[in-house]
Amino acid sequence: MKSHQNYIKGQWVSAQSGLLMDVINPASEKVIAQVAKSHHNDVDAAVEAAQKAFPAWKALTVEERIGYLERIYQGIEARKEELAQVIAAELGAPISFSRSGQVGLALRELKASLEEVADFEFEEMADQAKVVKEPYGVVACITPWNYPLNQIQRKITPALLTGNTVVVKPASNTPLTALIYAEIIDQAGLPAGVFNLVTGSGSEVGDYLADHPDVDLISFTGSTEVGKNLYSKAAPQVKQLVLELGGKSAMVYLKGGDLTFAVKKAMDTVIYNQGQTCSAMTRLLVPEECLEETKEAILNYYQEQVVVGDPLAEDTTLGPLVSADQLKRVQDYIEIGQEEGAEILIGGHPLERPGYYFESTVFVAVDNAMRIAQEEIFGPVLCVLTYQDLAQAIAIANDSIYGLSGGVVGPADQALEVAYQLQTGNIFVNDGPRSPKAPFGGYKQSGLGRENGKYGLEDYLQLKAIFL
Ligand code: NAD
Repeated sequence: MKSHQNYIKGQWVSAQSGLLMDVINPASEKVIAQVAKSHHNDVDAAVEAAQKAFPAWKALTVEERIGYLERIYQGIEARKEELAQVIAAELGAPISFSRSGQVGLALRELKASLEEVADFEFEEMADQAKVVKEPYGVVACITPWNYPLNQIQRKITPALLTGNTVVVKPASNTPLTALIYAEIIDQAGLPAGVFNLVTGSGSEVGDYLADHPDVDLISFTGSTEVGKNLYSKAAPQVKQLVLELGGKSAMVYLKGGDLTFAVKKAMDTVIYNQGQTCSAMTRLLVPEECLEETKEAILNYYQEQVVVGDPLAEDTTLGPLVSADQLKRVQDYIEIGQEEGAEILIGGHPLERPGYYFESTVFVAVDNAMRIAQEEIFGPVLCVLTYQDLAQAIAIANDSIYGLSGGVVGPADQALEVAYQLQTGNIFVNDGPRSPKAPFGGYKQSGLGRENGKYGLEDYLQLKAIFL
């Protein structure tokens, strides 16, 4: 079995302790590789390398940095099938989704950032003052397991393009994708120390990295709980943060719209990636009189679209959850929902087979005050809620500590009016497509800052006014 090293200062190096940790395939529950179990001294070495590399990287022209990122893009493109296979193996995402929704998404977003940076104004005038946008220095990129390639891409692309250097700490469940990314960066010939990667646990390595006095900006994607902890830990050093956190997004169906489409749009987000998507529309809001029709549409979707199976099988749409812990979390929420009085329309059980499989599950008779409607379950679970009038629909959708994504399906003018009133960073109106140049990020406890396109670049730059 292969064991992997950290990537520090342009070199592959073992954790100084020599320790390793296992990577498990969630479909087979077997150990498929081992990676470095890093500790504080490994983080110190990575941060020092990034700090030393910063002045020369910052001094390059934007065009020179774009050249390196274009080589990284080409490297991902050349290894895209291998990346999709590894994501399927360590995350359990079905291969068809790994190709398009994981690797394809990363390529689309990276390309969009490259297009946007070409027109980005790094200097502008405010009256007689020259306003200069400068990098922070060393960025700690701490990423989750659910999109193991793109969550790193969303951080390192803008951080590197704007002249920062980085230390990446990927999630412990899915480090293999991150290690291929590091190989691609190595082959792209970036100067040593500009990109560094250390694997290890969040509580040991992530926590120490974020707290490191030589880290100038923390860019974190993960749970709201850990995000809040990092926010408070950054306070004594007044350290800048980008936080991309949890969500509990609502799909609001308005009478007169295409109900089958609304159901499909919400269900897709809780099936793809096994519902382990921060922006999943896990609450479906429908008018009370449409409930029976909604149930029928859900059952039809389930029969036609849900194929549980091996992530590597081409027709699988629902694979295993990422880990035994995640499976337990989903099971616990199913019990909580039943105790709260919600009814299960479909699913509700783990599957009798090896791997961390859980049935696609839909709750009806859900009240928005229930924990299953308020807390992020992060599994293939949809909650259906009913409303009496539009004002109540908007109030229910907004009654959440989160505000990451959402959708409105209904007559176009009315749907747009509702979209304006929802407190969320992204909102899909009918079949409006996502753009990789649009900002991604949350209102309320879904985070601080935005990723993607020119908006993502701005978060990695600080402003200096020079009065001439
Ligand atoms: P998590 O918060 O448990 O872990 C995220 C990362 O932080 C991992 O690398 C982990 O090792 C590290 N970490 C854990 N404890 C830490 C600590 N004390 N200090 C520093 N680092 C620590 O999240 P997860 O389970 O990996 O991912 C799922 C969560 O991520 C969900 O809440 C989901 O909504 C969120 N998410 C948000 C977005 C977004 O863009 N808003 C995108 C994807 C996932």
